[in-house]
Amino acid sequence: MANVNGEFINLGLVLQSEIIRQGAARQSIAIYSDSQAALKAIGSMQVCSRLVWDCVKALQELGSLNKLTLAWVPGHKGHKGKIEEADKLAREGAGRALIGPEPFCGIAKTHARASIDEWMDGKSREWWRKLPQQRQANMFIKERSARLTDDLLGQNRKAIRIIVGLLTGHWRLNKHMSLMGLAEEATCRFCSEEEETAVHVLFQCEGLAKLRFLILGEENPSASSYTEAPLSRL
Ligand SMILES: [Zn+2]
Repeated sequence: MANVNGEFINLGLVLQSEIIRQGAARQSIAIYSDSQAALKAIGSMQVCSRLVWDCVKALQELGSLNKLTLAWVPGHKGHKGKIEEADKLAREGAGRALIGPEPFCGIAKTHARASIDEWMDGKSREWWRKLPQQRQANMFIKERSARLTDDLLGQNRKAIRIIVGLLTGHWRLNKHMSLMGLAEEATCRFCSEEEETAVHVLFQCEGLAKLRFLILGEENPSASSYTEAPLSRL
């Protein structure tokens, strides 16, 4: 029904303005629509939308005092005259104050949704960029990403914990554990040369160079090498 709602709003507006304009009685009124779905819903024995019900009531009101014809014209095919006339009336109608079931929305639902999504993306990117903490997570994750989210949620619980831990730096690595007082040394267990941080393990550790190459195909990967490859490799 969602795709014909617009038709009903238009039809409702035409009907209501026609009733008001004519104070209509004993007139011969013809209404043409190119939406078969809309006409079918009006003719149906069962009404399951407030919008359709309002249209049916308006039709009954108009039809009780006038000769009313409701007809389908195939959209823009061989009915040029009527379509042109309808388009002209529609343009005139668009310039008037709206009458009909509220709330009014002058734009398509998909357009509104896309605009809200775009606004949300911008806001969340700005908020994320300005966040004073999360230095490491910021390096890996630049913005809201549906692909990354889907990829992450497709992993099992254990894998999700490891991946999030590595990307945010909050994992059971010696530096982190020693800061928490849970490990004696912060030194890397793979090379014994540097502090064992997520950055060291993911980018610098010589002891893990071969493993990095096997997983990512490069010994000196960038942050995006990790987030652009399937997360399951981590
Ligand atoms: Zn190391």
